[in-house]
Amino acid sequence: MDTSTQGIRDEAELSDPSQPDQTPTQTYPLALLKGVVIFPGASVTLSIGRERTLEAVKAANASDKLFVAVAQRDEVVEEPGPDDAFPIGTLVEIKQVEEQNEQTLQIVVHGLRRVHLGAWEQREPFARVAAAPIEEEPFERIAARAMIRHAASLFEKLSLLDRRFNADDVAATLQISAPGRLADEIAWRMGSEADQLQDLLATLDPLARLEKVCVSLGNEIEIRELENQIRQKVRRQVDKNQREYYLKEQLRAIQEELGGDQASEIRELRERIAQKQFPDDARSKVTKELDRLERMPPHSAEQVVLRNYIDWMLALPWSERTEDRLDMAFAQKTLDSEHYGLDKVKERIIEFLAVRQLRILQAQRRAQQAARSGASTDAAALAQAANTNKGPILCLIGPPGVGKTSLGQSIAHALGRKFVRISLGGVHDEAEIRGHRRTYVGALPGRIMQAMRTAGVVNPVFLLDEIDKLAADYRGDPAAALLEVLDPEQNNTFSDHYLETPYDLSQVFFICTGNSRYQIPRALADRMDIIELPGYTEEEKVEIGRNFVLPKVLNEHGLTRSQVQAPASAMRYIISRYTREAGVRSLERQLATICRKAARRIVLSPTVRIRVTEKNVEQYLGAPRFLPDKAMEAGQVGVATGLAWTSNGGALLPVEVVTMPGKGGMMVTGQLGDVMQESARAALSFIRSRADELDLPEEFPGEMDIHIHLPEGAIPKDGPSAGITMALAIISALTHRPVRSDIAMTGEITLRGRVLPIGGLKEKALAAHRVGIRHLIVPEENEKDLAEIPEKIRAEMRFTLAETMDDVIRTALMERQEETPAQSAPTSDEPVAAKQRGEPTPPAPSVYPLTEQMEEMEETPPPPLTESPDQPDSSIG
Ligand code: ADP
Repeated sequence: MDTSTQGIRDEAELSDPSQPDQTPTQTYPLALLKGVVIFPGASVTLSIGRERTLEAVKAANASDKLFVAVAQRDEVVEEPGPDDAFPIGTLVEIKQVEEQNEQTLQIVVHGLRRVHLGAWEQREPFARVAAAPIEEEPFERIAARAMIRHAASLFEKLSLLDRRFNADDVAATLQISAPGRLADEIAWRMGSEADQLQDLLATLDPLARLEKVCVSLGNEIEIRELENQIRQKVRRQVDKNQREYYLKEQLRAIQEELGGDQASEIRELRERIAQKQFPDDARSKVTKELDRLERMPPHSAEQVVLRNYIDWMLALPWSERTEDRLDMAFAQKTLDSEHYGLDKVKERIIEFLAVRQLRILQAQRRAQQAARSGASTDAAALAQAANTNKGPILCLIGPPGVGKTSLGQSIAHALGRKFVRISLGGVHDEAEIRGHRRTYVGALPGRIMQAMRTAGVVNPVFLLDEIDKLAADYRGDPAAALLEVLDPEQNNTFSDHYLETPYDLSQVFFICTGNSRYQIPRALADRMDIIELPGYTEEEKVEIGRNFVLPKVLNEHGLTRSQVQAPASAMRYIISRYTREAGVRSLERQLATICRKAARRIVLSPTVRIRVTEKNVEQYLGAPRFLPDKAMEAGQVGVATGLAWTSNGGALLPVEVVTMPGKGGMMVTGQLGDVMQESARAALSFIRSRADELDLPEEFPGEMDIHIHLPEGAIPKDGPSAGITMALAIISALTHRPVRSDIAMTGEITLRGRVLPIGGLKEKALAAHRVGIRHLIVPEENEKDLAEIPEKIRAEMRFTLAETMDDVIRTALMERQEETPAQSAPTSDEPVAAKQRGEPTPPAPSVYPLTEQMEEMEETPPPPLTESPDQPDSSIG
């Protein structure tokens, strides 16, 4: 049975308790309704399909249109009897009847009043029952008013919480002033459960009824409020999700507009990460960062940082490698074809490679054995070990331009590895090695990682240039970081601040280079196998120039050997007149100048062939920078030639002394360090103690001042090894006996005139040889070091071993000029090896030391002639 309500209309008619009910007990057709309670005043639409009810309605409709409607106690009962009906029902009037089909009628009824059901008069074809109208009980007016107000306010509140209530209906309801009717109206509008409605219908006291309604209203309000709260919560959640979704969509649209579809970019990065062979740590790190990137707004500063980081991780080699070529014959061939001479160095390199090769083979054998015996993890570890470079790091030491870097390159060729190089000169910040943390603006990985990226493989040959020029300051010690790079025990987990994940450097073949072995940080030097390249003789340079440097330079200028030729004589001329260096860098520059000029001429007339000769070289290089070796000049009074050791190789160190009337003072100029100053004083004291033997003038020392100067005053100098040179120059100045200018000397002097040993003999000898000096005075105790000097040079030179200052004086001091011509025969006991071989004593150059230093300065300012504290027995200057 369907019902629908049209609200309670007929209020005045029924519910006013002040009007006694006149209607007597009558009989009416009875309709038992399932789950429907009709209140007086309410209009309800009913759908009637039950046979007996249909009959009752039809009967009523045919007479006065009135029948009694009552709810049935139990809805399941199909043929209800008197016991199945509630005792109180409603007398209703049929307002409208509509036949829907044969079995169903739709009627609109209007509730008239409450009735007490009496005895059933008939059952068939429909029930007819006696019904006594119920009077509204009297009530207390003030209590009623309070109750009405309370109910009205509750109802109003409920109507605000529940949208089902129509504002007009609510307004009409709030007008009702009778408590019973108000209760009925509200109960009906609230649409409570049938049994609750039936309870209200049966509550005849209007105040009690209204009170019950108020309780229901209160409950309902509470439920609605709770519902609303829940609804709001849900809505908020939904709103938030929707908002996020909306914003994300908007963001995506903006990104698309801006051209970079971040999502697809991230997808691409993810794929690349999946494909790249990362170690586990690195993979989880880079994946985490990619996830962060994905959540980041595009074009934000941090997004750029993350993007860079991921690019770096992807660009670095983590497993990519080249296969080593373990072929000694090939290695030898490569080294020979790329470098002239350097036999000892090459030999050392080949030995080094051979040991490496054996170690690798051994490790591989062990790995295979382990694999056969089923120890799989061991096998893997050994295979890994086979690839790593345990053992000392190769370190090439020598002056600039002697081929250290290019040897490194050749080693890479010989091994079939890639080659990278970084220069450590002036690096004083640990961050340059290890990189900056990503929190810094513009942070980058350190130089090691940058070079690894360039290499693109995990096993390149890695040249660390100028390892002796590392410096340390408050920004951390780069040497400590380098130790982690070079130490085979630690370098498989090198930590770069930028990467934040360990990087394995153990398969890198590190080679270091530097100018001075003594300035390499001790901890690093301990791990190195140092190979020295002292410098080249002129003949070697001619060979290198013709066979290696010129072809290389020609090639760089797009020229061929047939277009530009330089015979050995021209090469020698260029070397001696335009360069003065231990290596061949400046030669390379001069040849490049020739090639540039030649290129210009060849472009203008392509058939031209250029042959550089001694005669025409000035056209290309201008006037010679070093004057030709003149005939030996007369020895000079007060000038002696010493030898210095610098990190660029050896250098000449002239000493000048003049005397003047004075009061026995001594002045020393030329930026001499403390050691050298003391050495000068020692020399002076020695001379004073020998005044008689040396036949010194009477004015000395009391009425004479002595000024000692070491030219190139701008360059600081220190070390004790100029002792004998200064002593000799002072004696010469005091006695007016000239010093032979074809002799150079080095040695420390004691107060008693003993000559003590010095360091760096090899470099000093080469420097002297380079400028044409063929005779050296060296301390006797350095005799053992003569073997270090390249054989060729040794053969061309004479060495006088001096035990005391007397030996030095005898060898280098000539007789007074007015007595003996400048080019007098050597003193009696001078070694005469050169003479015996019939070689003329080579002439001394007129301009040597100064011009040589200037030559060097063009490229790198000459380092101070400062003695390294690490160098126990060496002396400088
Ligand atoms: P370094 O690193 O010692 O300063 P480089 O390796 O840069 O010197 O050498 C400078 C140039 O001299 C390079 O072009 C190099 O090929 C060339 N060179 C140096 N020594 C030799 C040599 N023994 N044979 C052939 N070329 C050489």
